[in-house]
Amino acid sequence: MIITRPRDWDRVRSQLADLGARRVFITGCGQCATVANTGGEAEVLAAKARLEAEGIEVTGWSVGEVACHSGGQRLETRKHAGELESADAVLVLACGAGVQTMAEATSIPVTPGLESVFLGNVVRHGVFEERCQMCGDCVLDRTAGICPVTTCPKGLLNGPCGGMWDGMCEVLTDRECTHVAIRRRLAEQHRVKTGEPLPPKDYSKKLKPGRVDLRAERKAAARPGMGEGS
Ligand code: SF4
Ligand code: SF4
Repeated sequence: MIITRPRDWDRVRSQLADLGARRVFITGCGQCATVANTGGEAEVLAAKARLEAEGIEVTGWSVGEVACHSGGQRLETRKHAGELESADAVLVLACGAGVQTMAEATSIPVTPGLESVFLGNVVRHGVFEERCQMCGDCVLDRTAGICPVTTCPKGLLNGPCGGMWDGMCEVLTDRECTHVAIRRRLAEQHRVKTGEPLPPKDYSKKLKPGRVDLRAERKAAARPGMGEGS
């Protein structure tokens, strides 16, 4: 899930002031931002109370199923058309993808209320950790399922660095060094670590901007001579 944190409120206030917004519609996200306690109903209502206490009218609010779903967001804007029309701006408590989805769904200026910080694993309730930076050239097959570029604070593909001490990370001192953990897990699984360093990653595989069109892919695969394996 996408992990978000609340944006500094002074900044949010100045964004709204830049837009000359005296009337604001607030929207959140029923998925990631709800789980992260940043853009669910409680946080949207807290933002509403805060804006109203500061003399800004809140014309309405919504928390749709998932803020980054274009169709869902269009439906939400239709449901709240009147409240949106009377607003000068939309404050979005969702990740950057959700903000952009809202910006496409309405002609009213949209402004973010959160910071999108990482793609997170839910370790336990309320605890999230970054385990993948979606690099497009995964090495987990060679690192016993531990991502070195994400979990090593220096992002080292090969390690450990010279600062590793007694198996522990020199940056996050209460944590085992990622590269020690990789070697340990490989040994536990009786897998040979060749000593060959991992080759540089091919960052050209990282789609920028990312776009996958499964329908187009299926059509291309169905064309004569374009079936699997060709
Ligand atoms: S190597 Fe790349 S794709 Fe694989 S877990 Fe790490 S960041 Fe994610
Ligand atoms: S000690 Fe290990 S995990 Fe920590 S920064 Fe160095 S290589 Fe990375």
